[in-house]
Amino acid sequence: MGSRSVNRVLITKSRAVSLSLTAVMVAAIYSFTPVTRGQSAHRANEQGSPGDPYPNMPLIAPIGVRIGKYMDVPASSQGAAIDPAKGYRLQNLGNGLYMVTDNAIQSMFLVYDRGVVVIDVPQNLAAYIPQAIAEVSDQPITHIIYSHSHADHIGGAKALGGHPTIIAHEETLRLLKRDADPNRPLPTVTFADKYTLHVGQQVLELSYHGNGHEPGNIFISAPAQRVLMVVDVVFPGWMPWRRFALAQDIPGYFAHVEEIGKMDWDTFVGGHVARTGTHADVDVQIDFDRDVKAAAKMALATTEFGVGLNPVDKENPWAFFDNYIDRVAAQCVNTLTPKWSPKLAGFDVYVWDQCYSMEQTLRIE
Ligand SMILES: [Zn+2]
Repeated sequence: MGSRSVNRVLITKSRAVSLSLTAVMVAAIYSFTPVTRGQSAHRANEQGSPGDPYPNMPLIAPIGVRIGKYMDVPASSQGAAIDPAKGYRLQNLGNGLYMVTDNAIQSMFLVYDRGVVVIDVPQNLAAYIPQAIAEVSDQPITHIIYSHSHADHIGGAKALGGHPTIIAHEETLRLLKRDADPNRPLPTVTFADKYTLHVGQQVLELSYHGNGHEPGNIFISAPAQRVLMVVDVVFPGWMPWRRFALAQDIPGYFAHVEEIGKMDWDTFVGGHVARTGTHADVDVQIDFDRDVKAAAKMALATTEFGVGLNPVDKENPWAFFDNYIDRVAAQCVNTLTPKWSPKLAGFDVYVWDQCYSMEQTLRIE
């Protein structure tokens, strides 16, 4: 409450300043001081001074407001420490499969008798992946698999060198042709629905489940190791990145999370955050997705249009909806905060983003 009282004081002060400015301007006009066209146009293009916060404004700071400190990251959301001398961590997932991470982004590699298959080459890990491979194998990289087209996950592919076979979904090829980024070489093998890679005694099963995060984002299963990798969909222990990790199709994204929960595996690799995931982590995210949907649905149904809108803005439909959607999002954040703020790392960082994108998808999709 302390900071809010301070806000009120600041708002009151800024109002006082703007009132006295208005008085000065009125006085200027009536004393025939020349007022240029530029000055009056400038006034028309200024917003009014900030108003009072919406009623029942959440204590979680809204987007665009700087705060002193975010909520603590629960210990259960953290991963094993990174050796600062190495800069990365190698996690043995069993049977020749490994995860490489800097505790922010993740990739994998699979060792077989005559080579190594690398799955995603994040820009930030490109320099570490050859070192990580050298810890366990002296075989060359023969294949790269792209989980999807985004540069943060495959932008280090060129830097690995050599001429590996690059396998990806056909939509990833389409997007990479458009992006024309020399750091992300085009796939040499593509598929539409399913692709099974046999190398030596090792097997990887790739499959496509439609658009969620973006077209071409695939599921990568290592059946012998009982590992599933799906990137940018489930974030073990964490709130998803903003706007459901920038999902291009939110209903499709929600379906992917549920599908991951139904599949048979022991270890989940999500491509981000510090640690691998379990079925319990996926269940938490399914529960969160359902709660955001229910909270936004309830807020949409119970929020009245136009309440508190300045009557001079009533012919501005964008302003009209901004006022409505802000109040819907605020109610959604309030509904979610008691249960989820202690449960998910980064809840306070992105909950407003999730509520804004949820109300939007519920209204139009
Ligand atoms: Zn992505």
